[in-house]
Amino acid sequence: MTEEVKHVLGISGGKDSAALALYLNKLYSKDVLPIEYYTCDTGRELAETYVLIEQLEHELQQPIKKYQDKNYRSTNEENPFDYFWKRYGGFLPAQNARWCTKNLKLAPFEAEIGDSLAISYVGIRGDEDREGYISTRPNIQSIFPFRKNIWSVDVIKKVLSNDNVENLAKYYKEHITSNESFEKVMDLVNKSISLSYSINQKLNDLLDINVKTFNKVVFEWLKTTEYPVGKLDYFPLVENDDILVRQDIFNLIEESNVDLPNYYLPREYEIDGEKGKYFRSRSGCFFCFYQQKIEWVWLMEQHPALFEEAKKYEKDGYSWIQGESLEQLSNPERVKSIKREHLKRMKRRYENLQTKTSWQDEILGIKKNNNTSDPSWLDELLDAEGDGCASCFI
Ligand code: SF4
Repeated sequence: MTEEVKHVLGISGGKDSAALALYLNKLYSKDVLPIEYYTCDTGRELAETYVLIEQLEHELQQPIKKYQDKNYRSTNEENPFDYFWKRYGGFLPAQNARWCTKNLKLAPFEAEIGDSLAISYVGIRGDEDREGYISTRPNIQSIFPFRKNIWSVDVIKKVLSNDNVENLAKYYKEHITSNESFEKVMDLVNKSISLSYSINQKLNDLLDINVKTFNKVVFEWLKTTEYPVGKLDYFPLVENDDILVRQDIFNLIEESNVDLPNYYLPREYEIDGEKGKYFRSRSGCFFCFYQQKIEWVWLMEQHPALFEEAKKYEKDGYSWIQGESLEQLSNPERVKSIKREHLKRMKRRYENLQTKTSWQDEILGIKKNNNTSDPSWLDELLDAEGDGCASCFI
């Protein structure tokens, strides 16, 4: 009998987690996949994030629970970020000191889950090559429904280890379909991982033969472990071999009643008589240190009050950007040089492209077209979205 296992999905405020919620909600009824949605609110998110959460609640017809640090709740601090910022002595988080994600995103989530078994659905797309920053607690298993390989690295390492070949072969024999060449499959299954044959190669070879068969085999193996998915009698994602890439994400959002957060929409700027476009590439805190300099300029010009608030956190030599304070960045000459550099980069990219499409015209401001269904001005986003964590930006 299925043990009590929670299904949870974190909404970061970004497009990918929103699309994942829409996708799973559309595909599986609540009886089949009773997902609980949550968001870990830092209290310093953009207003667009709260709009998205409200719209999603209507669309999913379900509340999105708000998880926050319990100690913070018993204080008079205005928001969880400030509570921790003070506890860290005014030390700002940075890429190599990410106390914010740990305390504001992962810890409240893990505290809510406690010792329960939970499956956490993560919206890393099929066209991304990253695992993200996710919980590593053994009672919480991450599943990536948009990818060809829905399983996490730890599961793959164990299931495909040379020590597990015998089991793998046994499960493959049970699940192999008539369309698959038995010998070819068994050759691959029995092939050892070595310096000349990596675990990723083996994974891709097996997925290329048949994703569903691979998933069924992994599911069988999970039943012999303590992993939460292994405690289920039935796991519908095993039968799903969809791969969703960025355009699918936009389509899912456009087909719903949920709007793409406004910050993704390109806004025009002018520099040296030329026009460029800038936008914010990610959800999360408005002062996130992961943002690019042109995004800081975007914040300063599009949300001046938030920029001023971000400035207030900078003191005693601590700044959001290494080696440059926001006061320095806001100098008009500096702003011009950031825009100049951004436009130059965009043009270089455009010139190097073999095929020029409307979204590329769009990001350079060559054409006036704010149609978000366009394959998209957001290719620039690809550069930015590799950084950061699954908890904040997906
Ligand atoms: S959005 Fe940025 S600043 Fe906020 S918690 Fe995430 S990593 Fe930290």
